[in-house]
Amino acid sequence: MNDPYTAKKVRLVMDLRTKGIKDLRVLGAIEKIPRDMFVPDAVKDQAWEDMALPIGRGQTISQPFVVAVMTEALALTDRDKVLEIGTGCGYQSAILAKLCRRVYTIERHKPLLVDAEKRHKELRLTTITAIAGDGMLGWPKIHGIEQAPFDKIICTAAARERPPEKLIDQLKPGGLLVIPVGLSGEQVLRLYKKDSEESYSFRDIMPVRFVPLLPDIASEHEAA
Ligand code: SAH
Repeated sequence: MNDPYTAKKVRLVMDLRTKGIKDLRVLGAIEKIPRDMFVPDAVKDQAWEDMALPIGRGQTISQPFVVAVMTEALALTDRDKVLEIGTGCGYQSAILAKLCRRVYTIERHKPLLVDAEKRHKELRLTTITAIAGDGMLGWPKIHGIEQAPFDKIICTAAARERPPEKLIDQLKPGGLLVIPVGLSGEQVLRLYKKDSEESYSFRDIMPVRFVPLLPDIASEHEAA
């Protein structure tokens, strides 16, 4: 079938390379996952531009460059079990699914989660498990089954000062956590490494702009 986005896809991948993304697996995943499927009709013509776009409920799909930087920072392998906080439209989870073994993702806005799951099903991304909940509490035990600890954790909403403690807890020793930290206007993307059961270190990657990490499941009327 003729893909109307082919030229735009190639241009976006070249753009990301120019901006410094080197990992060919990450670039390959971005080329393969149809970002146009993840955005509302009103902005579909911009789906393959390197920009953040609105996805409803006052939330946004991240800029492809930021998705690429965060994914690259996680140094994923096909053995990794990954936890994502902030499913949103499900785009980042789809990229992760191409590069690791299992993806567990949590979203506090149920309507966003429902749509994300539909897209994952349509794309036959069967290694993603998505739930509605408060990701600040980490992945819950479901029917007595524990999924933690995770090899890698990615949080796509900004923590005010530091990552929620639960996320560090649910990381394997040696594991990586990428998360924006700081108040709006002064956020930085930070990569944490859990050096041992009791200690971690971090480095700052770049300034970013993310929606805030908020507690609890969103009410029906919040930020619609
Ligand atoms: N990864 C997403 C980005 C969505 S924006 C994508 O590819 O589209 C960040 C998302 O984090 C929003 O949908 C917001 O509702 C969600 N979020 C914020 N705080 C949360 C929390 N405590 N638990 C789960 N999701 C949260």
